Amino acid sequence: MNVLKFGGTSVANAQNISQVIDIISKTSQDKKVAIVVSAFGNTTNMLLKTAELAAIKDEHYKSLLQEIENRHMQVVKDLIPVTAQSAIISHTKRLLNYLETLYEGCFLLSELTPKTLATIASFGELLSSYIISEVMKFRELDSIYKDSRELIITSESYENAQVEMSITAKNCVDFFTENKHQIVILPGFIAETENGQTTTLGRGGSDYTAAIIAAAVDASQLQIWTDVSGMYTSNPRIVKQATPIPHISYQEAMELSHFGAKVIYPPTIQPVLEKEIPILIKNTFRPEDSGTLITKEPNEKQQAVKGISYIENISLLTLEGSGMIGIPGFSKRLFETLLAQKINIVLITQASSEHSICIGINDKEASKAKIAIDETFAYEIASGKVDPILVEQQLAILALVGENMKNHQGLSGKMFSTLGRNNVNIRAIAQGASEKNISAVINSDDAKKALNALHEEFFEEKIKQLNLFVIGVGNVGERFLAQLHQQNDFLLEQLKLNIRVIGVSNSRTMAFNAEGIDLTTWKNTLAEGEEASLEDFHKMTKSLNLRNSICIDITASETVSNVYEHYLRNNIAVVTCNKIACASQYENYQNLKRISRKYNAPFLFETNVGAGLPIIDTLKNLIASGDRMHKIQAVLSGSLNFVFNNFSNENTFKEVVIQAQKEGYTEPDPKIDLSGVDVARKILILARESGYILELEDIQNNAFLPEESLATTTNEDFYASLEKHEAHFQNIYKEANDKNCRLKYVATFEGGKAKVGLQHIPSDHPFYNLEGSDNIVLFFTDRYVAQPLQVKGAGAGADVTASGIFADVIRIGKF
Ligand code: ADP
Ligand code: ASP
Ligand code: MG
Repeated sequence: MNVLKFGGTSVANAQNISQVIDIISKTSQDKKVAIVVSAFGNTTNMLLKTAELAAIKDEHYKSLLQEIENRHMQVVKDLIPVTAQSAIISHTKRLLNYLETLYEGCFLLSELTPKTLATIASFGELLSSYIISEVMKFRELDSIYKDSRELIITSESYENAQVEMSITAKNCVDFFTENKHQIVILPGFIAETENGQTTTLGRGGSDYTAAIIAAAVDASQLQIWTDVSGMYTSNPRIVKQATPIPHISYQEAMELSHFGAKVIYPPTIQPVLEKEIPILIKNTFRPEDSGTLITKEPNEKQQAVKGISYIENISLLTLEGSGMIGIPGFSKRLFETLLAQKINIVLITQASSEHSICIGINDKEASKAKIAIDETFAYEIASGKVDPILVEQQLAILALVGENMKNHQGLSGKMFSTLGRNNVNIRAIAQGASEKNISAVINSDDAKKALNALHEEFFEEKIKQLNLFVIGVGNVGERFLAQLHQQNDFLLEQLKLNIRVIGVSNSRTMAFNAEGIDLTTWKNTLAEGEEASLEDFHKMTKSLNLRNSICIDITASETVSNVYEHYLRNNIAVVTCNKIACASQYENYQNLKRISRKYNAPFLFETNVGAGLPIIDTLKNLIASGDRMHKIQAVLSGSLNFVFNNFSNENTFKEVVIQAQKEGYTEPDPKIDLSGVDVARKILILARESGYILELEDIQNNAFLPEESLATTTNEDFYASLEKHEAHFQNIYKEANDKNCRLKYVATFEGGKAKVGLQHIPSDHPFYNLEGSDNIVLFFTDRYVAQPLQVKGAGAGADVTASGIFADVIRIGKF
């Protein structure tokens, strides 16, 4: 015989029930089966909620009850033709009327005892099993209904009753030996005391009913049919990348379910484990999937870590005090106190100094526990030997589970360094002596991030997810998103990076999608987004709390550069092409770098100098490997280079500047480039990255613009003044041309000092042939003395800047 259990979602409506009946009819063709069913999805919650309302004299209980009634009646009507309905409807109605009487009792007495609650809750399974049984009869399956209460006998703790195994087993054996039908259908979850009072087996207890029957009759297999394709490596609702575990041991399944893998109710495993009956978890909606097989022998070749589960709503109680050292009986008194209050302990840790004991319990029981423990230790607290118990709420427990973990070194190191890298604070740690489980207590808010990060580390080592929050989608931003979209498949396949854009903002609107914004339609998504606000953008990025989050600034705005610190402090990396932060006060630059190190959040700005050219990265590698910078000589302005390469006595200066702006080679305000300020900022950043302390004011700027042009405040006035001073610019050109030299705006850093300005470059100089918007940097170091290290190439333009930002993102991916 096989025992099959169908959960709440599997029997949530007529369509699902039909699917279940198909599965039953197939399975029962060559084997007898016992079918255990849950209440129709969510009914138990509704039944309990209705009872709570009735007991506080809230008349709304009636409408909830009506909803429960409608649901059940609807299933009958959907599955049984009108001609055959009446008897079934009237029996269903009888059950519902009885339920209504119970609610009226609660309402009149304003009372709700555990005993009444259990009776009320039992109606979910009573109704579902009755209706499904009638449908099976109607479909002419050889089936019979059996009330589980006649088989399963329990103690009198009504909501979480303890099963009397020997008498229950005998009842089951007697019944199933006698039974001649191919299919027996029974309600899950419910049982009875020896005195015939209804009890329940705890929430999720239908799994347990099935296991008890399977063990009693020595079934060949226990099948748990649910809404997912097995026991997953982590909760599939939270970790999208989780996958079903094909084969797992009883011990591992028990650990995972104990730590929150709801797919199987923890007590379920014990009865079948003793008889070594295999459990198969299957998906009702994808019966072709193989599911998870649970047996005694773990498959040796499988991974050390089988799964990661978590429990929310945990409180941590800490009992601490110097008076505890060496005095026997402290722990005993503590545990006895919790036992007396029937408080379940989920996790225990004790410092080896015996200075403190930490206990994890359910949030709901925290205040009851505190009162009881403080009372037990009242004397020690009064005499200062022990501190009043400390309660921390809103925590979660994460557990790494795997029977083979004991044979692998370094797993806990890997677990805790992953959590640390993702800025997840660990409140307590517990590792079972058998090493099947390593648990960590963390803040609930971090649970999703932590689970995903650990899952990535232990199961998806190959693929790393990066979550981008992009501020500024103008020229460069748009190119960046286009490149990202185009490269997505390549990155996933070749670099094992899954890069998702979670948030975008321009100065008007912002939009988010925690699952990743579709990069083919991001413009519409953004246009339909909410009003942009830098503060809300940061809040959202923080509250989504995704691992490997990166804020990308593609603006030239000072206000945006002022918020980097908030991101970095929340362990969110910052990538920026905006030079303002790195060229601001040294103190500020230094502070950002310090915070970046402290919070483990990369701060990258390769595109601050030379757009996509690897200038800063090369410099950093030189310095990190112990080289020292003596001199930097560079042409760092793609825009100025473009302007002076194109300017001659055959055109006007203004025309050339306008062309440069049109082609995207200048900042939005071209004066920033032409005044030399942009170049000064760049050499400042290079000097700082070389380890020198320098301010922008220390840089000598030999500007070539007339005072009047420098003083303009709008682009329009600026262009007008360029036109007015055309003769000045022609003169600059002529002086150079007469000497057969070319004009280059050169930045130099030497002996701790920096200067920028226009220079006459002769034809034998490496700068002479610099074309278009190209940049060149010469690094003279300890190692590169006679021949400097050169980096040269296109140093301006939307495409190359976008690809420089892209390169920074990938650098973070490889971190
Ligand atoms: P049923 O009503 O069939 O008993 P449950 O809701 O009790 O189903 O259990 C199935 C659910 O358990 C899944 O839908 C999933 O959300 C949750 N779950 C949590 N952790 C895991 C896990 N590690 N593997 C599979 N499911 C899990
Ligand atoms: N219906 C019960 C519950 O929701 C038992 C079960 O579904 O397993 O807890
Ligand atoms: Mg369940």
